[in-house]
Amino acid sequence: MAALIEPPLVRTDRLTLHFGGIKAVDGVDFTLRPGEIHGLIGPNGAGKTTFVSLLSGRRMAQSGTILLAGEDITRLPAHERVRKGIAYTFQITSIFPRLTVFDNVALAVQSQGTRDLTTRTRAALARVGLEGLEAQEAQTLSYGHQRLLELAMGLALKPRLLILDEPTQGLAASEIERFKTLVRSLVPATTVLLIEHNMEVVMDLATRITVLTFGRVLATGTPAEVRANPAVQEAYLGA
Ligand code: ATP
Repeated sequence: MAALIEPPLVRTDRLTLHFGGIKAVDGVDFTLRPGEIHGLIGPNGAGKTTFVSLLSGRRMAQSGTILLAGEDITRLPAHERVRKGIAYTFQITSIFPRLTVFDNVALAVQSQGTRDLTTRTRAALARVGLEGLEAQEAQTLSYGHQRLLELAMGLALKPRLLILDEPTQGLAASEIERFKTLVRSLVPATTVLLIEHNMEVVMDLATRITVLTFGRVLATGTPAEVRANPAVQEAYLGA
């Protein structure tokens, strides 16, 4: 019996954004399968953050298309993409520094309805391991804990797609283990796209990996395929 092929959750076709002469994202064809943990790797400046910014709507493409479950979202503003289930956590900027840890997450939870606000907020914090820090101002947390707070805020949105931009940066080894367990617990309900510089983490977590260099896709495959790819080794892994 032929396996039923589910349509991709995300498909980009020739997606492009240049900054002047810099081809940050240069004709990227990319597919995200529902329920996968997809790693996005590549050298500094390869275009990873710019690419996920195009997916989340933080930046608009100059050309090409983005389909979410078959629907063209290329021109949708970021807040409408959030409503459609795309959550993007990136380098702290979404945290309100003077609010408490609890209130930061409660704000995100509230956007999904006000019932059981306290319970749901506590649950999101416990999920990332920040229970006990509820009353602290967010700005007093360590960098790693701010990343986890951001993750709790993203999870509170109950996203279909969670985009994580370097989530393990600043985490201690024990926290990285906890983070990996957490990410595994999210799929398949949530699909995860993970920009990650820590090769051990991405090779361990990802079901598939896409390698970007100079704004283009160099390779896509399983961790083993990507690791064995000579072009990838030359451009990135061997470095
Ligand atoms: P890193 O791993 O260092 O975070 P990255 O793969 O995420 O890198 P991007 O941050 O997407 O790469 O940057 C891709 C290219 O686009 C780089 O050459 C970068 O300098 C350039 N770039 C990014 N944002 C801008 C901007 N706003 N204006 C001009 N150039 C930019």
